[in-house]
Amino acid sequence: MFGSVPACERLFLFDIDGTLLSAGGAPRRAFRQALLDHFGTEGDAANNDFSGKTDPQIVYELMRAAGFTDGHIGDRLQGLFDDYLAGLAIELETETRHYLFPGVAELIPALANDPRVVLGLVTGNVEQGARLKLDHFGLWDAFEIGAFGSDDHGRDQLPAIAIERAEAKTGRRFRGAAVVVVGDTPADIQCARAVGAVAVAVATGNPSRQTLADCEPDMLLDSMADWPQWLADLGLEMNLSERR
Ligand SMILES: [Mg+2]
Repeated sequence: MFGSVPACERLFLFDIDGTLLSAGGAPRRAFRQALLDHFGTEGDAANNDFSGKTDPQIVYELMRAAGFTDGHIGDRLQGLFDDYLAGLAIELETETRHYLFPGVAELIPALANDPRVVLGLVTGNVEQGARLKLDHFGLWDAFEIGAFGSDDHGRDQLPAIAIERAEAKTGRRFRGAAVVVVGDTPADIQCARAVGAVAVAVATGNPSRQTLADCEPDMLLDSMADWPQWLADLGLEMNLSERR
């Protein structure tokens, strides 16, 4: 299916929440408290499914619905995220329900150590939020580049930013099917389409497998547990015997 792409070059762009890990209730608690502190209301945060959205997008959606103008929201955004990040750091310290999804603890180091691969992030998290969540599992340093909710409110813009950063950092230009976007929501699949990337959907997050299947990703996984197999299916055979 992906035979036209040279087997030796891939840019992987991973989503975080629902894809690599669950941060438990920590992000949502910190987010709701920051909304309360800066707007006096959390709006309908209790019933909002944050998955697939960028952090600023969530704020705008919730606070527009609560009656705030975009001007008001924009004025308070930086202060809100400063407090969100401070709260998130504290909440992650005490969170007990956070975990990496199956295969992730082995997959990410394997890709990071593979000279054929540039490893990156495309996530709706603001950059420092992404760092806090991944640092908690010792994974932040595995990623060479990333595009974040703090770069653009629209997820569809993020893969192109990540591709630019990969080129600036490594001198390697990745295009089309040499770019693999891995995520757990229809929004991840859609943002992959925006740059003609391969869309790998993994059904470890909130959206059901059927919801993802309806979006027709290039590859649909129950989890990333069998990562050597699906990497091979992408044309990236891992020499595991050498590694062990
Ligand atoms: Mg996600």
